[in-house]
Amino acid sequence: MKHFIVFLLFFNSTISSAALLLRQYKAKPKLVLMLVVDQFRADFLIRLEKKFLPAGTAQNPGGFNYLISQGAYYPLAEYKVLAAMTCPGHAMIMTGAYPAVIGIPLNEWYDRNLKRSIRCVEDDIQNVSPRRLTSSTVGDELKFISKNSKVISVAIKDRSAVMLGGHQADYAFWFGSSGWETSPYYASQVPSWVKNLNDQIIDQKLKNKNKIEVKSILASPLGIEWTMQLALNALENEKLGNDESTDILAMSFSSHDMAGHKYGPFSSEVEAITLAEDREISKMLKVLKKKFGSLDDIVVILTGDHGIPPTVEHSKSSRLASGKIDSLDFYKKVATRLNNKFGKPSAEWIRASHALNYYINPEALSDRKAPKELVEQEIKNEALLLEGVFDVFTSSEFSKGLSIPTFFKNHILNQYNLVLSGDVVIVPQPFFMGKDENTVTHVTGYSYDRYVPVVIFGKNVKPGVYPQSVEIVDLAATLSFILRQLPPAKSSGRILSEIF
Ligand SMILES: [Zn+2]
Repeated sequence: MKHFIVFLLFFNSTISSAALLLRQYKAKPKLVLMLVVDQFRADFLIRLEKKFLPAGTAQNPGGFNYLISQGAYYPLAEYKVLAAMTCPGHAMIMTGAYPAVIGIPLNEWYDRNLKRSIRCVEDDIQNVSPRRLTSSTVGDELKFISKNSKVISVAIKDRSAVMLGGHQADYAFWFGSSGWETSPYYASQVPSWVKNLNDQIIDQKLKNKNKIEVKSILASPLGIEWTMQLALNALENEKLGNDESTDILAMSFSSHDMAGHKYGPFSSEVEAITLAEDREISKMLKVLKKKFGSLDDIVVILTGDHGIPPTVEHSKSSRLASGKIDSLDFYKKVATRLNNKFGKPSAEWIRASHALNYYINPEALSDRKAPKELVEQEIKNEALLLEGVFDVFTSSEFSKGLSIPTFFKNHILNQYNLVLSGDVVIVPQPFFMGKDENTVTHVTGYSYDRYVPVVIFGKNVKPGVYPQSVEIVDLAATLSFILRQLPPAKSSGRILSEIF
């Protein structure tokens, strides 16, 4: 009998800690605040912990430290992809699906039908839109079941705002040549409150500034402040969270990435930006506390879209091999090799390259009657001679399931798309990267690029540090559970049941 009672007690407590009561489950938040820091490698929250505002209290919340102490904190959440970057990263957060299946394999790619390179949010008719994204998002699914819900997204980069907003966003705002803007996909013009903000910003800071000067202002703490200023104005003017229908306010801090590419993750410039994010997040939490009386009615998710390696100089001075793979130089080597083997075609052999994806020119193939598979193999063999190359795979190998680098097999399956990705893909060694206009860039699946933190804060969420392995694709399923709605169409993540 004694054993039986012990058993009952144990059984009972297991159930109550593993399941939400129906009345808890039914209490939906009034507002979801999605905070993405662009290029937020997992160690920022750890490294700068002592420099952030103190955690504070629910009455007077700090920024990052408040969220990690009061939310479910996963220090190491994973983008299981081969090349972590902004557009697929933001799309993964809101779709819960991998780049290979959602039409967004990279930031930019060569469109074989259009015969030119395109940006992920490019739209011939509406300038900028999410039309290439082939899954619904958390916001889209929310709108299906809750017509009065609003979804608004903000980021200096258009691709971040667009992917966070999804197809049904009321507005996505990004920073263009005339300040904050949107595209005809969302509205014929920005609302008057955005116009007013633009007037202020331009009057005070951007008047008579050239493009380069504007870019460096955006890549400073001011870029963070302006992003938050727009979000706070959206909260107020679009009356977010004011009724029973849940609204989503999603924002991404692009300045972090813009400065990171120039100065590297360990620079004082990026540190200053991270501290600005901390202060601005605290400011937002205080506004929300004042607006709702408490933070009980909101859910906050904090994460990043990808990480970044140290600069080449930093790695080298730390005695790690590092360097850049120069695609233009590689084109020349490939041309010499292929011309020798197949003869010189009337057009170039390689049409474009994006994030170490190389696209073969079909006209060169037909001109020289060269079989694509053989040409791919020749390019691969040339690539394997480059310094800093770990492995190379081709589209023919991929279709046959052959010779995929086993270390990254799942990462490749999650990202590579036969229609949209390149014919030959170089996988660099750690700390090597493609050469472009940036000082440092992130196009790999190594830990520094693919691990970011995740924090989920909400009334029903048990605070704590969670050692479980978590993937970014799990966020959409978990948020869908919180919002009592279907996960996005292509969502394949798990509900993070341990946090409830
Ligand atoms: Zn970036």
